[in-house]
Amino acid sequence: MRFEVSKVLDAIEQRLTTDPALARAVVDLAEVVRYADLDGGRPASLLRLGLVVDALATQLAEDNAAVYAVVHRGLLSDADLTSNERMVVRRWADDGLVEVLPTVGDRVLEVADLLGLPVLSRLRFEGVRERYGWLAGQAGRLMAPVPGKAGATLVAQVGGGSAPSIGSPDPVGAKVLARLWRCPESNCANFGGGGGAFADLAPERRAGGQPPPTLHTGSPTCPRHSKPLSDIGPRPPAEALAVRVGGVIRRRFVVAEDAPVVVGRAPEKGGIMLGQWLSEEARRWISRSHVRFEMRGSEVVAQDVSTNGTGVRPGGSMDDAERMTLKRQTRVLSPGDLIELYPGVHVGKARTLTSAAPLNAPSVMAEAPTLSMRILER
Ligand SMILES: [Zn+2]
Repeated sequence: MRFEVSKVLDAIEQRLTTDPALARAVVDLAEVVRYADLDGGRPASLLRLGLVVDALATQLAEDNAAVYAVVHRGLLSDADLTSNERMVVRRWADDGLVEVLPTVGDRVLEVADLLGLPVLSRLRFEGVRERYGWLAGQAGRLMAPVPGKAGATLVAQVGGGSAPSIGSPDPVGAKVLARLWRCPESNCANFGGGGGAFADLAPERRAGGQPPPTLHTGSPTCPRHSKPLSDIGPRPPAEALAVRVGGVIRRRFVVAEDAPVVVGRAPEKGGIMLGQWLSEEARRWISRSHVRFEMRGSEVVAQDVSTNGTGVRPGGSMDDAERMTLKRQTRVLSPGDLIELYPGVHVGKARTLTSAAPLNAPSVMAEAPTLSMRILER
């Protein structure tokens, strides 16, 4: 039992991010863990985040869709969670996978506003609707997780429908996200820490993964420590890419300066492994390390490193006459270009790539299919 819970929590952990390029929705974790009607179990359960994350993936038709979780710090010592769950939340907080706050206020809405993301919440936010016009004006930006056939389903609070709506960062968001920020607090998980320079930041922080500061005080401020952030320079160029296999977005990843990414059947650690989504034929064709992506200035360059070559479909054209093959060569990616490792196995810029088929097997809870029944029995 404990082993299975840990496996599910590990799977959920893979779906947490505060990286603006990877997050697909915003949640208030302390709220979600108390949706007891989703599984009829304990007053608070961390596993409910898994149900909500699965619903998001299904309704976006996007495997591995990640959420930006805002967490009231009280949850780190909430007696309604198990001691194991409290330990896990603390680890997520220390690792900067979630954003911990002394008061949540409308931070969920601010993050959604700055990043153009939907909010997954049952709250109606009546008091702040004027400040966030999209709450009432855009279908799919405020989705309520409710009990569904197998776990949770998301229902639009405005206009009905089941499709979460994702835009791009608003102009103010884009402006603050163009810079890197540092918190004066030495152990700040989300905004570097202490003195020092940009080079001291951990690579994943330099890679464009820094979350948006709060702007409620009029200048960029650390949401956790309520201290003004210093501007430590422009955020280095980075680009979110997506892998689409069989018509479904399977993974998003970020290529940043000094952080190239290799995609293949089973690349070295740090690469994007496709093996699990491939047919027998595709597995035979695609090399362990097949194509490498890197930033050159502000451009993404793809380089074939495979045995059989890498296809390029300029502008995403499915006309085979336009398809080119890279043999150990490189190509600068244009916005609509598709890199084709094998028919139906594509990589492209995340902002231009969408799923074209339903996602049939959402997964974080799959490690323990009987788990929710066991929670009920306890
Ligand atoms: Zn801080």
